[in-house]
Amino acid sequence: MHSYPDASAVVRALAPDEPVILNRPHAAARAARFFVEKFPGKSLYAVKANPSPELLKVLWASGVTHYDVASIAEVRLVRATLPEATLCFMHPVKTRAAIAEAYRVHGVRTFSLDTHEELDKIVAATTNEAGEPATDLSLCVRLRVSSDYSELSLASKFGVDLVDAAPLLQATRQVADALGICFHVGSQAMTPFAYVQALERVRAAIVDASVTVDIVDVGGGFPSIYPGMEPPPLEDYFGAIHRAAESLPVSYSSELWCEPGRALCAEYNSMIVRVEKRRGNELYINDGAYGALYDAAHVGWRFPVRSLADDAEGVQEEDFAFYGPTCDDADYMEGPFSLPAGIKAGDYIEVGMLGAYGAAMKTAFNGFGQAEAIESSDEPMASQYRGDRRDPRHSDNVVSLR
Ligand SMILES: *Cc1c(COP(=O)(O)O)cnc(C)c1O
Repeated sequence: MHSYPDASAVVRALAPDEPVILNRPHAAARAARFFVEKFPGKSLYAVKANPSPELLKVLWASGVTHYDVASIAEVRLVRATLPEATLCFMHPVKTRAAIAEAYRVHGVRTFSLDTHEELDKIVAATTNEAGEPATDLSLCVRLRVSSDYSELSLASKFGVDLVDAAPLLQATRQVADALGICFHVGSQAMTPFAYVQALERVRAAIVDASVTVDIVDVGGGFPSIYPGMEPPPLEDYFGAIHRAAESLPVSYSSELWCEPGRALCAEYNSMIVRVEKRRGNELYINDGAYGALYDAAHVGWRFPVRSLADDAEGVQEEDFAFYGPTCDDADYMEGPFSLPAGIKAGDYIEVGMLGAYGAAMKTAFNGFGQAEAIESSDEPMASQYRGDRRDPRHSDNVVSLR
């Protein structure tokens, strides 16, 4: 893949008519090494955040050996891309055929569940032809926890309630070689306390059920940096999780896992778009709600932007909203996105931090969605991993944990 020093160099060389996705393998590698070295346990990459095979190879080369997959297509993709990777099928609702193929064809041994029905399904799909149940399953019971500290809730859809957890943990213990408890605090958790609170619920579940637990999996939710969302440094999260996990009654015998999606890949991509029309402070650009800007349209996510015009430095900026290229009124991103007041049709914009739930969301709706991928060697627009982060709220956020 051709590499350019930055987005401006791409525009000068190509003046692209279609959006361009910029890949920053160095940024993904840095994030992966950070988790591998500093998280006090094992880090599984949550593939749904960005399933690009190039990215998967970068993460593997940087030491990420375990992958959280949620569909049989993700199982096949990661197996084909990384033949030696350990795959964990962490969607609590799977088809019997998907479980059987994952187990028999792709060597998957770790599955999550949040009901007795799913447990029965996993046992049936992994029992051999002689009627002998599998003896090598790692089964993680997904506990429902609060999403109060996260920007995107994952609390309502999955997870067994604490009051119903004990019988499910006991039944799972009977058939599992290794028993795990997992949860997800919601995406972009803005304080480490989210994990501390969830681990308190794990403690209650373990005590209630009186089972030994081999895996405590704190899920995803580790944040990245976006306009208006400056989380504390990730070390604070790791420290708080470590202390809370150490105090669990099973800490001497259990492994600690996490499943970062966003935090491993947000910095991997940005996108170059072109302004096709301006109407007041609304810019009609060539990517949008059906492209990489799904979250900007649907949950009002604010991605960082910068003008790539030569004279953009130091000029006065104004707030803009974006329209995407399709004919749908919903193809609208309110922002606000701060850009030079004089921006006009034909100008290019770089939208940053699109590696997680951005580049992966592109559809071909209405004939749009093409985008070339090009490598860029510059820094992402923001980084959790540069080692120079000083967050003014840092001390406020951790004080309650100590
Ligand atoms: C989506 C998801 C993740 C990744 O979440 P992030 O907020 O991107 O870190 C991890 N685990 C499970 C089960 C998920 O569904």
